[in-house]
Amino acid sequence: MNFNQFKLDSRLAAGIARAGYETPTPVQEQAIPAALEGHDLIATAQTGTGKTATFVLPILHKLLQGPRHKARALIVTPTRELAEQINDNIRTLSAGTNLRSATVYGGVGTAPQVRALKTGVEILVACPGRLLDLAAQGIARLDNIEILVLDEADRMFDMGFLPDVRRIIKLVPPKRQTMLFSATFPPEVEKLTAEALSAPMRIAVGLTRPAHTVSHALYPVPKHLKTALTFEILKRTDTNSVLIFARTRHRAQSLSIKLSRQGYRVTSLHSDRTQGQRQSALNGFKDGRYQIMVATDIAARGLDVDSISHVINFDMPDTADAYIHRIGRTGRAERTGDAFTLITPEDDDMVRELEKIMKQTLPRETIEGFDYNVPAPVQSNQPAPRGPKPVPHRPPSHKSHKPHPPRR
Ligand code: AMP
Repeated sequence: MNFNQFKLDSRLAAGIARAGYETPTPVQEQAIPAALEGHDLIATAQTGTGKTATFVLPILHKLLQGPRHKARALIVTPTRELAEQINDNIRTLSAGTNLRSATVYGGVGTAPQVRALKTGVEILVACPGRLLDLAAQGIARLDNIEILVLDEADRMFDMGFLPDVRRIIKLVPPKRQTMLFSATFPPEVEKLTAEALSAPMRIAVGLTRPAHTVSHALYPVPKHLKTALTFEILKRTDTNSVLIFARTRHRAQSLSIKLSRQGYRVTSLHSDRTQGQRQSALNGFKDGRYQIMVATDIAARGLDVDSISHVINFDMPDTADAYIHRIGRTGRAERTGDAFTLITPEDDDMVRELEKIMKQTLPRETIEGFDYNVPAPVQSNQPAPRGPKPVPHRPPSHKSHKPHPPRR
């Protein structure tokens, strides 16, 4: 199968070639024909499956017919990083056309966005809050929208954006094509699909399981040795670009400082950083200036960097869904990747849940020569222990890894 079979407008061939796409991915194969026929669409596809081009190509095809200089397609997405990535994808794929797009999101000045909108772009890529502001001021006009895309609907729900999304839906014409993308379907997202889509076709690709191109390994380790073990893993692994996830912005920042003291070219992506710092971290990571990026889940949402060879979960995520999203950052578009997860006994429940979803026991790895017995440092606000030395931790192994009672 190649892209010719979709019978896309011939002006899109240049963009597809420029993007380097030769064969459609499974979600593209299923969803592009349906989208071109004008159906409403619900696609279960996670980032990394090629889902962006799945809606971008039919949008460009449709917009090449009909009037210019008014916003006719609207893509609503949860984060600014994702908005910029979708916009980059549009720019590449629309290279052979004169269609134009603009991004709209908060956290940055409005002036450049207002200027872009006033030039009369045909495609808007927007986060909900700022779009509603600009629509209320009459700067973003939504009354000519013919195609509406709701991207990462589950994450928009997680982030509390669904009321804003509903307000946006009220502002676009009822006669339109709507495509909704989501990796998971909690009841609130199902409810939204029932309200916003009419007779939708459902397409599911890679449902709830990470890309098969990724290999997974768990590294049991006492909590206080996580940083040391991360150094050791990095030292012994041949990596290209490494994305490390930490649970909080504070932990992400602190780990990134420690890695930089070890001499790594490292940056971080979390909500304590300004939009400028985040953009420069992202650009530096994409172009290889930084080999490692330490991020939190929200900040790294939808991150599109092709060359990530390793994802390291410094902290186990809270849900299996978050694990799958994180891992979606590597092994993209049929490349291979490794996912390493540091686990402590507290993570036993999550490990069990993951193994259930992935229908496999994940291998437990220990690093030979790494000293798992180093005792935990004494907390400065506790009295120094008297008497015999603390009993050292046993080296973790598959067998010695005892289940723990649930947290909470
Ligand atoms: P996405 O799931 O849209 O974030 O896409 C993941 C990555 O795969 C992006 O870097 C895309 O440019 C790339 N990609 C999308 N479609 C194809 C394709 N048909 N062939 C090769 N790479 C693709």
